[in-house]
Amino acid sequence: MMDAGRAMRIAALVAVAAVALLTSPVSAAEPIEIFDAHLHYNWEPKPYYQLDGVVALFRKNRVTGILATSRPNTGTHALMDAKPEGLWVVPFIRPYRVRADIQTWFGDPLTLELVHEEFKRGYYRGIGEFHISGKAADTEVVKSVVNFAVANNLYLHAHADDEAVEILMRHNPRAQIIWAHTGFGLSTDRVAALLTKYPKLWGELSYRSGIVDGGGKLSAEWRGLFEKFPDRFLLGSDTWISERWASYGDIMAGYRAWLNQLPPKIAAQIANGNAKALFAVK
Ligand SMILES: [Zn+2]
Repeated sequence: MMDAGRAMRIAALVAVAAVALLTSPVSAAEPIEIFDAHLHYNWEPKPYYQLDGVVALFRKNRVTGILATSRPNTGTHALMDAKPEGLWVVPFIRPYRVRADIQTWFGDPLTLELVHEEFKRGYYRGIGEFHISGKAADTEVVKSVVNFAVANNLYLHAHADDEAVEILMRHNPRAQIIWAHTGFGLSTDRVAALLTKYPKLWGELSYRSGIVDGGGKLSAEWRGLFEKFPDRFLLGSDTWISERWASYGDIMAGYRAWLNQLPPKIAAQIANGNAKALFAVK
């Protein structure tokens, strides 16, 4: 038989547990965790947000991981050195020193020098974001970058049209490409054809048009694409200018608004699961 004191202590514990359950921060209403797979922490010569500010911004928006790049790479170094709690930083080598390199990197042998030098830091998981369009991808420098990525198990983060994606894949069929913006306004049929043809191609969805209609409803074409290729899409903010930092919360809210219209399992894959699968250390 239980004595009265013990019964009271148990009753008190049960009451505490009940209150804990009711007030637990983990509830169905908590916004879905997001991995931001297109993050520029540019440092020219100072970042838009200082380190503690940017980490606070991610926390506020429940962004728990980032594909981090910076021009120059100083911003990525700072993020890696800071080892911020609750933030998984996946660093990519940006092959640009200054903004003008966007126009010339693919024909400039200095690109390779920069990539090789940065790679020595030992923590990089990819190369990009780089910009390439059509036949401009068909150079020795680009081919060398692709081959270097394959040889070192690095992903490429390519802001490219569909023609350039095909040329990158032709340079080395073992390339693994994160397709920044997923072709912008390219038809969903063409996107589907490329995803089918290249199993190591993933679409990152910043600035991608057509996902929702004017009323915010997920379009039929994109619902179909997400259901057919649930493990091939990633989200990104693309903080390439100050305006994108200023609207960071709106960008993430915009993603969550259409993620909520998908089956929860697919929404979780796109929001964070696919990135975790890609960047898990194997
Ligand atoms: Zn970008």
